[in-house]
Amino acid sequence: MKFLISGSAGFVASHLVDRLLADGHAVVGLDNFLTGHRRNFAHLQGNPNFHFVECDVTKSIPELGPFDTVIHAASPASPKDYLEYPIETLEVGSTGSRNMLLLAHKYNARYLVTSTSECYGDPLIHPQVETDWGNVNPVGPRSCYDEAKRYAEAMTMAFHRKHGVRTTIARIFNTYGPRMKLDDGRVVPAFLDQALQNQPITVFGDGLQTRSFCYVSDLVEGLYRLSQSDERYPVNLGNPREMTMLEFAEAILKMTGSTSTMVHKPLPQDDPKRRRPDITKAKAILGWEPKVPLEEGLKYTVDYFRPLVG
Ligand code: UDP
Repeated sequence: MKFLISGSAGFVASHLVDRLLADGHAVVGLDNFLTGHRRNFAHLQGNPNFHFVECDVTKSIPELGPFDTVIHAASPASPKDYLEYPIETLEVGSTGSRNMLLLAHKYNARYLVTSTSECYGDPLIHPQVETDWGNVNPVGPRSCYDEAKRYAEAMTMAFHRKHGVRTTIARIFNTYGPRMKLDDGRVVPAFLDQALQNQPITVFGDGLQTRSFCYVSDLVEGLYRLSQSDERYPVNLGNPREMTMLEFAEAILKMTGSTSTMVHKPLPQDDPKRRRPDITKAKAILGWEPKVPLEEGLKYTVDYFRPLVG
């Protein structure tokens, strides 16, 4: 099959590209390098099944089809990045979604959008189920990301209802692994960078807020399965193992053997207090669940980061 993937120079999409190529598919990747990086696909140079085009999907997308599956994975994804690029984030979720959906419609392709657990905002229902409509501050600092993805979901459903496009929506929970940017501000690279340098670990707030971390290869498997499924409503993809940020910091200290201490910094505005995916639906529909334990995934991630740490 032939896939079109936006955001292919980013963390998640670059792993998805590798997975598709390994399965023998052809892939056209698009990226404007706002937050993605060429090093994430440098190893694909000369691969006849991979074609990269530098382009901004909010402007225009060159004629590259037909495609069997279109995947819209382009977007700044870390709070630090989307706070720096709030307008671009809104545009790639809105105009970018529309442009990618138009292509899927034109080629009668399957379509998958990488949405987010941020659609639930600071969740009122725990663990998060897909039927929860969310608790999002529409004018807070995170709204550029949350509302962009909620709009992207709405546009996706509109193309399905109006034009019959075979759409799918993945609500991705916190994911980690090699190719995250060391300085993207997210908790996994931040804590690992600090631990590997024996610098203080910066715990925001009291550290009792929770997250659930999924290793990237598990996520990519779920994305692939969902993209080929007939489920039109959102599906959570994430690892249900939930921990506080204090527990996560302890786990990082233990596995790196670091002598770092912990320091508390102010909690960012609207930081969700807890997050854990209910993956009952993904298990039932896709036969999918995460396989890589946190300790193993962190080891692969440390192996990637260690040479990059100054
Ligand atoms: N966090 C932290 N220290 C850091 C970076 C993040 O304590 O240096 C916390 C952050 O406040 C949040 C959690 O870790 O509660 C996950 O943050 P991240 O930016 O990775 O992603 P989010 O889930 O908030 O989108």
